[in-house]
Amino acid sequence: MSSYHIDPLKGLNGQQLQAVEATEGAVLVLAGAGSGKTRVLAHRIAHIIQKGDAKPWQILAVTFTNKAANELRERVAAIAPDGNQVAAGTFHSMMLRLLRREHKAAGFPQDFTVFDSDDSKRLVKIILNEMNEDRFRPNYVHSAISRLKNDFIPPDQCAEEAQTPRDTMIANVYKEYQEKIARFAAMDFDDLLSRPIEVFRNHPMVLNFWSNRWRYILVDEFQDTNRVQFELVQTIAGPRGNLFVVGDDDQSIYSWRGARVENIFQFKEKFDGAQIFRLERNYRSTQPILDLAHSVVSNSIQREAKKLWTERTDGKKPTAIGLTTDIDEVREVVDRIAREVMSGKRSYKDFAILYRTNDQSQLFEDALRARRFPYQVIGALKFLDRKEIRDILGYWKLILNPRDDVALRRIVKEPPRGIGDTTIDKLVKWARENDSSLTEALSKAHQVPGLNSRAVNTCRKFGAELEKWREGLKEKDLGVWAQQMIEETGYLERLEKEGSFEAEGRIGNLERLVSSITAHAEENDTGLRGYLEEVTLATDVDRMDDSADSVFLMTLHASKGLEFPIVFVTGLEAGLFPLENQEQQVENMDEERRLFYVGVTRAEDELFLTYAKQRRRWGQTRYTTVSNFLREIPKESVNWEGLHPYSENQVRTMSLDMFQSGGGWDSSTRNTSASNSASIRATGRARVNPDDIPAIHVGDLVEHERYGQGIVATLTRFRETHKVTVQFDHGFQTFVQDKARLQPVKKFK
Ligand code: ATP
Ligand code: MG
Repeated sequence: MSSYHIDPLKGLNGQQLQAVEATEGAVLVLAGAGSGKTRVLAHRIAHIIQKGDAKPWQILAVTFTNKAANELRERVAAIAPDGNQVAAGTFHSMMLRLLRREHKAAGFPQDFTVFDSDDSKRLVKIILNEMNEDRFRPNYVHSAISRLKNDFIPPDQCAEEAQTPRDTMIANVYKEYQEKIARFAAMDFDDLLSRPIEVFRNHPMVLNFWSNRWRYILVDEFQDTNRVQFELVQTIAGPRGNLFVVGDDDQSIYSWRGARVENIFQFKEKFDGAQIFRLERNYRSTQPILDLAHSVVSNSIQREAKKLWTERTDGKKPTAIGLTTDIDEVREVVDRIAREVMSGKRSYKDFAILYRTNDQSQLFEDALRARRFPYQVIGALKFLDRKEIRDILGYWKLILNPRDDVALRRIVKEPPRGIGDTTIDKLVKWARENDSSLTEALSKAHQVPGLNSRAVNTCRKFGAELEKWREGLKEKDLGVWAQQMIEETGYLERLEKEGSFEAEGRIGNLERLVSSITAHAEENDTGLRGYLEEVTLATDVDRMDDSADSVFLMTLHASKGLEFPIVFVTGLEAGLFPLENQEQQVENMDEERRLFYVGVTRAEDELFLTYAKQRRRWGQTRYTTVSNFLREIPKESVNWEGLHPYSENQVRTMSLDMFQSGGGWDSSTRNTSASNSASIRATGRARVNPDDIPAIHVGDLVEHERYGQGIVATLTRFRETHKVTVQFDHGFQTFVQDKARLQPVKKFK
């Protein structure tokens, strides 16, 4: 036992130690962000191994991303021998592994395929087309089916209980979907979780095997598990009940995907005698950051009261920055990164830029690229969502699983090869009547009625090609095979002929795909199937390379569990964050609030909150109002720079009266001239001595020799100077403050 590098009981505080040492029975660690939940989970595994209570592979650890699983394995391996053999992964990847072993009990061939949500939606679309049903969008129908599957409602029951024509339609599509997906020997994401439960219910021996194998079960980010996931761990834990879960109800941000924060609250009821531990000391952030986070999340309607403390009491106060436009926001953020990096204080990788919606990344990317700053976008338009990549993956899926008609229909015309829609319709009809796949229909095209000899030849030729690639897979090195087959499809040739800038990009992506599969083959012996599984089950964060020195860009959702020295939470505007739906409603304000909490608690040392008064979204410039989350922060918890929150819309709508009756923390902060002059300094650049510029603020009454008295409506940096918009009786006027030097006449309370 001398090979332990670190004592798993070291480096923990008293509360953490208790949780680590409580190795038996049901245990819940309910604690706020950065309190060491994930750390406790890793140390607990190492402790169990060290005590000799279980071998690493007898421990199941469920994480939210595959990246987190890898890190966990590495971490345990650093503490305990063979720690990398812990069965760690996401729910989906662990259950896929189980189903491959138990495919017979599940009634599937061993080489079943996994349909990702795009495949599933395509299948729904095909079925809707076949039914001539065009009233509902495939996405909508797919989510309905997904919910039914998660609730274990079979198609027949669904049909019986249908009350409206819509219900009946969904029941019909659902039935067809289940039949087809079974015929294709495929499982969708929902099946990966619900099939194991069915297997366990119907085959006690199988359950017995896995319950005995996984003696200890640990789940990170438990607040974001759904019903089926809860049932899974409960079932596997069985009577032994060694289930250890850690979570934070304040960080539950996936209810829109079926996550149920109640899982945390019901833990005690479901597991008699469950122990509950709380961790109160935060090791990640400074006290000012924690205070700010707490001030906003404590307004949630339903939550377990908890407050974190830290020894890092001397940190910088978070900064809120109001900008005129989204472009200004981007420039401000990138400028700040530039200043810190150029002065040698920080590296690129110390910064994370977080946003509510993926489309906000584009402007940041443009700005970072223009400056030649290295950056990584986590999950924006996922590499694997690109058309050319999905097309080639479609070929690969089909090559592995000739029954996968969805894949065949995806690629048969990519590139065009003389098999048109009428031919496909005939193949589909024949396949249905003969209970076979489209692949089979291709090779037996001569038996398909109504095809002319040219069509027959083309079909059979393509069928033979698919067969050749399938054979090649057995002989060749995977990377070489991939390169060759992509060339043979004619896909590259078509892109080359196109010759456009975009086509160049697509060719580049395919090159990356080949490198990626080559690298996979060098490191694994799981072959094409292993590669496809990995990419199908990959989460956004899995592709993040944190060894690279680059700025990180990601959505707030993707940032869960991560930490960065400096964090920018951007786009804090009503409508954007909290995000409104098309009906301009925030569907779940508390969840948005928790998302804000997740974002700000990623920050270790410094936190910036930005918002822009004008933003282009969906091709339209909109005037925004500041997010209520910013308004909820007590004035002493944040330094304000740039535009003031109530300055939004002023240019268009605010009247003098509104200023005077402003109220809220706007009017009270207006008087904190120390922070205000600091704001002018911070947003300005060299040249003008900032001390010479009169400190004026949004809402101040100023006097101009020609226009008389007016109210400062906006204050923003413009090129190297400060731009001031003042509302006079006759309208708005803009000045360069460095020249105009407007002086405040009187301040409002
Ligand atoms: P989140 O809720 O964001 O997932 P968490 O509760 O899982 O956070 P961790 O990520 O485990 O928290 O820990 C936060 C940071 O604090 C990590 O960098 C971790 O290494 C560090 N940390 C946790 N506990 C200790 C400790 N006892 N001593 C030193 N550092 C610690
Ligand atoms: Mg964690």
